[in-house]
Amino acid sequence: MPYLKINQNNFFNNYQVLKNLTKDENKIAIVLKDNAYGHGILEIAKLAHQKSIKNAFVKNMQEALCIQHLFENISILYPQSCFLQNHFEQCLKTPNILFCVASLEFLKTLPNGTQIELKVNSGMNRNGISKEELKEAFNIITQKNLKLIGVFTHNGYGDDLGAEFFSQNQNFSQIKKEVLSFTKSLNLPLPRFHSLSSSGAFRDNTTQDKQDFLEDSFYRFGIAFYGYLCADSVFNFQHNLKPIASLWAQKISTCKLLKGQTIGYSGTSKALEDMQISTYDIGYGDGLFRIKEGMELFTKEGYRIFARASMDCISIQSTQEEVCIFEDVSEFAKAFNTIPYEILVHLHSYIPKKII
Ligand SMILES: *Cc1c(COP(=O)(O)O)cnc(C)c1O
Repeated sequence: MPYLKINQNNFFNNYQVLKNLTKDENKIAIVLKDNAYGHGILEIAKLAHQKSIKNAFVKNMQEALCIQHLFENISILYPQSCFLQNHFEQCLKTPNILFCVASLEFLKTLPNGTQIELKVNSGMNRNGISKEELKEAFNIITQKNLKLIGVFTHNGYGDDLGAEFFSQNQNFSQIKKEVLSFTKSLNLPLPRFHSLSSSGAFRDNTTQDKQDFLEDSFYRFGIAFYGYLCADSVFNFQHNLKPIASLWAQKISTCKLLKGQTIGYSGTSKALEDMQISTYDIGYGDGLFRIKEGMELFTKEGYRIFARASMDCISIQSTQEEVCIFEDVSEFAKAFNTIPYEILVHLHSYIPKKII
């Protein structure tokens, strides 16, 4: 059976990197959505708990309920995804679970007294309440006595060189001021604010002055915790983050090939000399992307992985009982012309996690 080795020392190293960056451990919130980017939500939540991280973000209600005992606040980014009535009722009853609300329509559906974080659109134009809709949002909030815990946005330009990163920050600053005046006139407590993910946090620290009481409460760190940063290389961040997960697979069988014999579907790969190859028990059915002709990929030990991958196994020029498919997923991401996020998040949740 394949498995993911989670290196807890690397996780703690990454935590330390983020603590050095933010200079305040309370500024570190962790994003655990999508099964902690494929790493195992409960496993990673427990590591975060060991570092007393207080705020976590998840995708749906199921994820929130699974880690509710480990954080002071758990915010559900997409509460409508995977909606089940009994989970909804359970979440409403759980005092440390917050619902993120990205539209007036959803706001109107929530029962009185629900704890919410309002998502606003500051220029990414994906989802969130617009500045013009804030007034109506506050009307609904007061009518229904909703508990407004936070107002947040997502700056979608953290990775890119250019002015949009700053103009989104400025839009959010404007929104904060309006929120301040609404809460003052309605006699509501000022909510917490947050807007930046991993790469935004790295830029924020190098480029921005801090405002006082309208300052963001924390950064929402996802990918940095897992050991990667995907910002444009011009930023040249010196970060010392370390990937925390390595993927291991076990040998199914070995076979001897003579020079010229082909391997696997359609005989895409060919033995260039007499050799022994083995198949290992991970394939695209387990969420690893399908390795195709033209890709040059090697295990951590340096053994060639042959195209094409099958659904449940891959062929590798090795006879070892166990191989490390990757320790740093960047090479796979490059080969598939994508980002580490996508490769990691596809790994099936049933792949066992071993914490070392
Ligand atoms: C996924 C996500 C994050 C984390 O982004 P990273 O780039 O992984 O740090 C932060 N905020 C929101 C709203 C997200 O959806």
